[in-house]
Amino acid sequence: MGVEYTQLAMELRGRGCMVLEREPMAAHTSFKIGGPADLLVTAPDENAAAAAFSLCRERDVPVMLVGNGTNLLVSDGGIEGVVLRLEAGEEPGLQPDGCTIHCSAGYSVKRLCLFARDHGLAGLEFAYGIPGTVGGGVFMNAGAYGGQMADVLLSVRLMDRYGRIREIPAEALDLGYRHSTLMETGEAVLSAAFQLKPDSRTAIAGRMEDFMGRRKEKQPLEYPSAGSFFKRPPGNFAGTLIERAGLKGLAVGGARVSEKHAGFIINTGGATCRDVLELCRQVQRRVFDRDGVWLEPEVRPVGREME
Ligand SMILES: Cc1cc2nc3c(=O)[nH]c(=O)nc-3n(C[C@H](O)[C@H](O)[C@H](O)COP(=O)(O)OP(=O)(O)OC[C@H]3O[C@@H](n4cnc5c(N)ncnc54)[C@H](O)[C@@H]3O)c2cc1C
Repeated sequence: MGVEYTQLAMELRGRGCMVLEREPMAAHTSFKIGGPADLLVTAPDENAAAAAFSLCRERDVPVMLVGNGTNLLVSDGGIEGVVLRLEAGEEPGLQPDGCTIHCSAGYSVKRLCLFARDHGLAGLEFAYGIPGTVGGGVFMNAGAYGGQMADVLLSVRLMDRYGRIREIPAEALDLGYRHSTLMETGEAVLSAAFQLKPDSRTAIAGRMEDFMGRRKEKQPLEYPSAGSFFKRPPGNFAGTLIERAGLKGLAVGGARVSEKHAGFIINTGGATCRDVLELCRQVQRRVFDRDGVWLEPEVRPVGREME
């Protein structure tokens, strides 16, 4: 028997969640691509998130967590089951030591960086231009300009699919280049603690603006994308390899290799997931034929018929 999504939606609303049925994910991803999620559910707090996990488990409904959707390529067929977002929650909290910030997972990385700056705490400047949430940043071990979440993350609070909560030190996440154990365990990040160092606000702000300036200069921020499409291959740069293979401007449908930064695949209007995947394959093949390097996507393909 099929899942009664309207019934499930009603029950989730009864537990305090906000629910959108058959919601196009194109409206919730920075790529502006993706078919409908059966249910897009926003949990306002941990109790609501636990209720969502338990109701879905009882009915065998898959749950996928999403932050700001800035590292996702969602299938044109959409996502089966529940796509779960955690609300941004309250302002981050500063611990009595004056250097540790606690922040909920749904909070934006950019706002966290501004909070740190305003409190004269250094270490998160690298992350200022990363457009995701704290949860997505921890999951991906997001990084830029020589910094990464692993450098400043102290601990995380996690919830498993049974609604059980545990707090673990950052080392237990085995954070590596765009990797965390969360990719295997499927646990939700509820909140994170960051250990920072005191510094002058002006110096911190200066570094943040410098990194942001470099992004604006080098990245095609005027087009929808999911950031760097490919992971950095050892000892090389994806953008350099793609440019060397003469692939800047290569297009499939509305998807195009950016002229400004060859590491970005952009949506120039109406691109489908299928366009992006075909373009990705062409880039992978042609770079491999030229340089013998197989580029792996950093962007996460999700949804029907993607796994
Ligand atoms: C213009 C642009 C520039 C970018 N620059 C960078 C950069 O410099 N460095 C970099 O690393 N990335 C960059 N990115 C990619 C992206 O912003 C990061 O990967 C970011 O950390 C993703 O966060 P998100 O909240 O959008 O996660 P999403 O894209 O929504 O999700 C990413 C993954 O995290 C999981 N996830 C999300 N929230 C949670 C949670 N609470 N608990 C458990 N799992 C969760 C999802 O299931 C998914 O698998 C860029 C993207 C864009 C569009």
